[in-house]
Amino acid sequence: MSAAPRRNPRFPMRLVQLQGSSGSGAYEQGVPASLLRPQTPLRRAYAERAKPLPPAGLGMDSVEVRRRMVERLRQGGAKNETVLAAMAALPRHHFLDAALVTQAYEDTSLPIGHAQTISKPSIVARMLELLFDGARARELGHLGHVLEIGTGCGYQAALLAQLARFVISMERIKPLHVKARATMDGVACGHLRLVFGDGMLGHPPNAPYDTIIAAAGGDALPQAWLEQLALGGRLVVPMSQPGAQRQALVVIDRTETGIRKSLHEAVNFVPLKSGLVG
Ligand code: SAH
Repeated sequence: MSAAPRRNPRFPMRLVQLQGSSGSGAYEQGVPASLLRPQTPLRRAYAERAKPLPPAGLGMDSVEVRRRMVERLRQGGAKNETVLAAMAALPRHHFLDAALVTQAYEDTSLPIGHAQTISKPSIVARMLELLFDGARARELGHLGHVLEIGTGCGYQAALLAQLARFVISMERIKPLHVKARATMDGVACGHLRLVFGDGMLGHPPNAPYDTIIAAAGGDALPQAWLEQLALGGRLVVPMSQPGAQRQALVVIDRTETGIRKSLHEAVNFVPLKSGLVG
């Protein structure tokens, strides 16, 4: 019996080393080691599904380029070191088409096919930071049980997987779901599950969720999300605002006395749509 050839292990090997050195780097101080180290399936996925490195000289194979991205996020106001550590560790270029890898660490949204985009890093950092400020997340020290609507390329889902106990990530466009699954291979078990389905219905089998995050925005909040949000749980969603050109980030908290809603900055997300494609 011959062993299967390993796909290019160069980049992920470095990632594993980085995570193996938990506690030594500036980004790891004060962060529980368990949150810095993706659980085994994610590590294995990186090791087995490496993308070829971008052309030499771009420095994309270095943790340095992500460290600089995180530094810029910090200068832009990002404060949550747990979130920043996860973003420093996760190779964003791994989730993009080869033609886009040189832009992977710029603060920009990028096309992922099927008229959808990966959100820009500063928005991802901001949404995750808002989630960490929820009552349940503060009590737990992590995001608990998470429902993500809009897997897209899987970048944010992979970040969530490092920051939560369990993640369900839903996508309505089948080719995107299939591609995200291939990108993460082996991750779609255990604590991160990619589900092909209409996220407007939520995912009742694993409800209630401590955290719900939507990467697509609509006019109205699906009732299912409110029903599936745990007590103390927090939902962050981009929503259209009457009379406004841009959407706003909306935070919903479920408290003992009901639902509390707050409005945050203006954003531009792809539309939340019902039904399935493909
Ligand atoms: N967080 C993603 C961003 C994806 S863009 C990433 O890191 O790549 C938003 C995604 O939401 C799109 O892929 C879109 O197809 C998906 N989407 C929109 N409406 C949806 C719905 N009702 N259920 C599931 N996914 C939906």
